[in-house]
Amino acid sequence: MNDTKHCTRSNPEDTLELNMVLLRKPLCSYTVLLDKNLWKGKGNKMKIAIIICERYKSCAGGKCFRALRNREGAFDIYSKDESLEIVGYTSCGGCPGGNIEYVPEEMIKNGAEAIHLATGFVVGYPPCPYISHFKKFIELKYNIPVIIGTHPIPQKYYITHDKLNTWDTEEWQELIKPTLANELTRKAYD
Ligand code: SF4
Repeated sequence: MNDTKHCTRSNPEDTLELNMVLLRKPLCSYTVLLDKNLWKGKGNKMKIAIIICERYKSCAGGKCFRALRNREGAFDIYSKDESLEIVGYTSCGGCPGGNIEYVPEEMIKNGAEAIHLATGFVVGYPPCPYISHFKKFIELKYNIPVIIGTHPIPQKYYITHDKLNTWDTEEWQELIKPTLANELTRKAYD
């Protein structure tokens, strides 16, 4: 059963009240994002940061930026009427993700209100084995929501992972939910 509560994050300029749906019990979990109206109507500029999997470090970010513009995939929690600014973008630093320990601090100093772990974390072969730990760690240590994914899962990855049964667990079903989209949208990201 989902447990809904309001969580307040202090900021010298502003107090951001986030409406969260806790899906599991870990301490201060921000495992949220089935509430697609989370930030809609916040009424001002939303600042986010993105961490990508090092395997895709040479990626130009085209799918992420397109999805951000179109509010697709994990970005559909934000309203198109509100401005969405990227204030940080980096890789995890390579397995086992050394940058995860440090980069959120700079992202938050630069105004980040949420951090996205890019879709590459879930579609890689294999997907990132540390993804749940990263999410819990960042949320606990830095008190900022972590959203799994950026652009919709491309259909070609969806087909292959479906054959591999990669996501055939309750945990992975939750992890891919923000970027699952529908088939038409997934095909548009092939
Ligand atoms: S699999 Fe995970 S830890 Fe390894 S490079 Fe990718 S995101 Fe980083």
